Amino acid sequence: MSAWAPARALRPDLAERAEDLARRVRACRICVERPEKTPLPHPPNPILRISSTARLCIASQAAGTRAHATTTPFNDPSGERLRAWMGVSCEEFYDERRIAIVPMGFCFPGQDEKGGDLPPRRECAPAWREAVFAAMPQIELVLAVGQYAMAWHLGALRRPSLTETVADWRHILEASGPPALLPLPHPSWRNNAWLKRHPFFEAELLPELRKRVRAILDVQS
Ligand code: SF4
Repeated sequence: MSAWAPARALRPDLAERAEDLARRVRACRICVERPEKTPLPHPPNPILRISSTARLCIASQAAGTRAHATTTPFNDPSGERLRAWMGVSCEEFYDERRIAIVPMGFCFPGQDEKGGDLPPRRECAPAWREAVFAAMPQIELVLAVGQYAMAWHLGALRRPSLTETVADWRHILEASGPPALLPLPHPSWRNNAWLKRHPFFEAELLPELRKRVRAILDVQS
């Protein structure tokens, strides 16, 4: 069973203007003042992009070093690949009136002894995630990027492995929603071998992703 909570229904009682909520999140200090275990090793710098108009949401993992340094999500080669997968320009990607970016952990979690990024902070999703999505009831499509976002958003639609979950994307799109959910592997170079081994992703899933992204963005342009 996942250590993360399953996907939950929207909570109208938590509704708050997305822009007001974003301000509250940016003042959050839970992981230094009330951490579950080890405190965050640096001052919090919550990175999320939400609005009351975005209809597409990227549910991602957590900020990396570059995102942390620049307070800009996906400001790295993973971001370039994700934008290519989606078929969007930088300008579109960073227009939070059209695309929300909601990592599972808003702050850069730090690194392990080997220099790898730690998982998203466990405190973050339970503290904020329901409120964030209650503030954005207009979201039509959520891209669940990586295992942590899949665990939270997909609930019973999640399969035993990431590969099986991504391979089941058609069923997940049909069975979910609103908002519709689409599982994606993380666009990191670490997944290059996975992408090579699973050509269905580029041949079948990406065209559908681009079609749906374009349909949403073009209505708003
Ligand atoms: S990771 Fe989330 S819960 Fe922790 S300090 Fe940052 S915003 Fe707050």
